[in-house]
Amino acid sequence: MTIHILPDKLASQIAAGEVVERPSSVVKELVENAIDAGATAINVDIREGGRKSIQVADNGQGLPAAEIEVAFHRHATSKLQTVEDLTAIRTLGFRGEALAAIAAVSQVTLISRAQGETTGTRLVLDGGAKVSREMAGAPQGTVIAVENLFYNVPARLKFLKSDNTEKRLIDEFVTRYALAYPHIRFRLTHNGRITFQSTGNGSVLDVLIAIYGPDVARQLLEINAEAQRRGEEQSPYHPLTISGFIGNPAVHWSNRGQMVLFVNGRWVKDNQLTFAIIQAYHTLLPTGRYPLAILFLTLPPEEVDVNVHPAKTEVRFRGDKAPFAEVQRVVRETLVADAPIRQMSAWQVGSQLEAMTPGWEGSLDQRAFVRPDEASQPEMELEWPPEEIIEPAAGQTVPRSSQLPVMRVVGQVGAAYIITEGPDGLFLIDQQAAHERVLYERYHGEWQAGQVQVQALTAGTAVTLSPSQADWLNHQLPTLAEIGFQVEPFGPQTFMIRSIPQLAADRDAAHLLLAMVTGVERKPPATADLPLHLIQLVCTAVATRPGQSLNQAQMAALVQQLEQCQDPMTTPSGRPTFIYLSVAQLAREFGRI
Ligand code: ADP
Ligand code: MG
Repeated sequence: MTIHILPDKLASQIAAGEVVERPSSVVKELVENAIDAGATAINVDIREGGRKSIQVADNGQGLPAAEIEVAFHRHATSKLQTVEDLTAIRTLGFRGEALAAIAAVSQVTLISRAQGETTGTRLVLDGGAKVSREMAGAPQGTVIAVENLFYNVPARLKFLKSDNTEKRLIDEFVTRYALAYPHIRFRLTHNGRITFQSTGNGSVLDVLIAIYGPDVARQLLEINAEAQRRGEEQSPYHPLTISGFIGNPAVHWSNRGQMVLFVNGRWVKDNQLTFAIIQAYHTLLPTGRYPLAILFLTLPPEEVDVNVHPAKTEVRFRGDKAPFAEVQRVVRETLVADAPIRQMSAWQVGSQLEAMTPGWEGSLDQRAFVRPDEASQPEMELEWPPEEIIEPAAGQTVPRSSQLPVMRVVGQVGAAYIITEGPDGLFLIDQQAAHERVLYERYHGEWQAGQVQVQALTAGTAVTLSPSQADWLNHQLPTLAEIGFQVEPFGPQTFMIRSIPQLAADRDAAHLLLAMVTGVERKPPATADLPLHLIQLVCTAVATRPGQSLNQAQMAALVQQLEQCQDPMTTPSGRPTFIYLSVAQLAREFGRI
């Protein structure tokens, strides 16, 4: 083949691919245009996940009749004049590519009436070519309908995901922009049904309630103004403000999707800043769980470069250094300032047994916050920058080594926490969590060595289960035997317990068996993990409960056993076993430094 210049149409289709990857990218570009046009109400209507049609209607300033056609040319924009403008972009769009790109790969109908003009115009395009243009009566604003996306690019069409996936991405996008622009009334409709709307009353919290529901919204902390002021003073970016809401540690997700960042009103993805948020929650969340955080960063437009990628979802900060420390500090300080008390109850809720004990205060079920489609979502693995783990200014950092120092018991608070003193600070130990860890390491060790110490029950203990529980148990009798529970069928749904592990000897055998059966029922583990999971459930059931006062000798024994653990920092399920306050942190808290 000889070298030749590509025909214009093919070149446009190739370029379009960078901007318009899927239905949600069309929604993004059209909504951004509506926001740039000063709209106060934006309606998005989607059919079949956006493949069939996407319509975005706004009440913004509209397109002047004379400019309607040129708006669809490549590199046609009203938002940029000179090269200098590129260094300080104040609009969401600026590349002049979106309308051209969308039109090249779909059938577009645009109706618009500009502010100050008496009639509107209707323009129809097919694959970028004009089909018709006429005058049309229309309210001020713009309606763009995009039909049969990628009808002329079969390669792209093939790569579209299910309607549901596309719908989810569009939902995500619209709800995010509703958060960033609470003064704009958004409405999203799928196949004629309203799936989301915001009031446009200016309250970010109201939008959060519309997205997450009141239960989650109740657990949100607003970015602490003090922390934000301090962050601003210490920032190399002037002025930088960080506002928004973060979840208290009781709400967490299995993926990173609920950490949302806006820079100057633009939703951006930034691994470093996301990592800064995760760092701020260090030790406060169970392992493998991620917080909710909606952060708005505002800084002079000269300090950020948004022209990194055609999709405009990445930004670069001046000097290529994201305000990592600022974000981490502000989030951490907000958590520390507002969260400690709620934090504790949240952790207790995290243990599995609590939910089984009726009347346990705070029986808030965390699973309610796990979205049903979450489990099936593959987690995107990002590479986190290894550099820069910044010490939070205040609060609970964990000593660096995984080994605990030798500690002296000072006392107990709330019949739930043991206070100890270490070489350079004080530890507040959750007695239940610590005991769970101690029991787990012992039990797990015995099981691994194939010699779980058992206590025979001479009379046996009978337990009756539901039919499905009985069915499950019938299949797991060998695994139970492995971990020290000799259990025999004793009637259709009844079982006789003949032995229990030694370390649970003083506990009720029926209660232990039920703890395992219901624990597995509420959260079925992978088959390979079953013994470990059961061991964990037994440890939770056996561990000292909050409310149990311990004498000095008992506390000293527990603390000593925790010191000797291999992994003393967390419970087997990832809750922290203690909070650490260094002498230096105490001095800082008391304003001595
Ligand atoms: P960009 O947004 O980068 O300028 P687009 O291709 O998205 O490029 O839009 C081209 C131009 O069309 C915009 O600069 C704007 O002047 C005009 N335009 C697009 N959508 C709208 C709208 N909803 N309301 C008013 N003007 C619009
Ligand atoms: Mg645009």
